Amino acid sequence: MKEKGMTTITLKKINREKVYQYIYQQKETSKLQIVQDLQMGLSTVSQNLNELENDGLISRNGYFESTGGRKAQIIKIVEDFRISIGLGILKDMFHIVAVNLYGDAVATETIELPYENSDAYYTALAANVELFIQKNHYAPEKIEGISIATQGIISPDGTAVTYGDIMGNANMQLSDFSSRLPYPCHLEHDSKAAADLELWNHPQLDSALVFLLNPNLGGAIITGHEVHQGNHMRSGLIEHICIDPNGPKCYCGNHGCLETYCSANALKAASGMPVKEFFNLLHQTHALNLTQIWRDYLDHLAFAIRNLNLVIDSPVIISGYLAPYFQEADMQYLLSKINESSLFQMDESQLLVGNHGQYTPAIGAALYYIKEFLTPAVS
Ligand SMILES: [Zn+2]
Repeated sequence: MKEKGMTTITLKKINREKVYQYIYQQKETSKLQIVQDLQMGLSTVSQNLNELENDGLISRNGYFESTGGRKAQIIKIVEDFRISIGLGILKDMFHIVAVNLYGDAVATETIELPYENSDAYYTALAANVELFIQKNHYAPEKIEGISIATQGIISPDGTAVTYGDIMGNANMQLSDFSSRLPYPCHLEHDSKAAADLELWNHPQLDSALVFLLNPNLGGAIITGHEVHQGNHMRSGLIEHICIDPNGPKCYCGNHGCLETYCSANALKAASGMPVKEFFNLLHQTHALNLTQIWRDYLDHLAFAIRNLNLVIDSPVIISGYLAPYFQEADMQYLLSKINESSLFQMDESQLLVGNHGQYTPAIGAALYYIKEFLTPAVS
């Protein structure tokens, strides 16, 4: 950037942005630390801090322990200066979350509302979203946007679902939401949204393979610090990889897709009980038949991981609804099965577990507006 051509206003904006980003990264800092680390003049820093505080972006509360001289005031960003709302739409319910500027879910709720492509459904959904915002006392101007994660493939321009056989939502339009909610709206494929959250939580990862173990299986590929979309937004659809042409029928019409073995629904069908009940019983009784069902599940998951790792040589993240049920012993078993008769051995550190359970896609979707807010307007 040419210093000469830069106007005073641009320079001021850049400095303000630098100071804000620095405080954001540090989480807690002091004026002196900003002056030292950004190598800015004390008066420039003071002026920016005053402006940021007046605009409600930062707070100055409390003091650091004294290191001899005067105690330094603690400077932080205001975490809920903006809130992003994330929705995770499923067949029988939707999840709703409020996410702050650090990507933390500060409010979560599950609302029973069976999906149907009707005016009544979208109107009821919008009313619930408004109620959630009111209940949590978020002023409308705080809401940066509403980002919706749904099962199904989204058109490259983000305005519609182009494939949605599970929920019958192939006609879902972004405008179904944006016409009923007075906020910016964004539509995302739920497994890509989940991968966005995993990437946010593991920023050190260049590449990863994400398994979204939700009622229906999903997947995503992270490469070059980004979720890979593909030419037709179809990258990472691991759920329809066929592992047995004579296997059970999948909702897509084919047989033996990974969906029929590794989705939470497949586990529910195999055990004949809800997932929560299955794990309660399994962990309490260690009954042989339940252990066998769980091992069968893990065996198929290991088979998929081992094969997919030959395509993408990267860590693997177990994410979504089933992830919180994975215990240390399960991870060890899974790892041993991945490595059994494998050409290459996977290291323990390469197998990660997400920790947001059923809310993963909604939180991941909400990050869209958080990232948008945090991306400097001038750079
Ligand atoms: Zn299928």
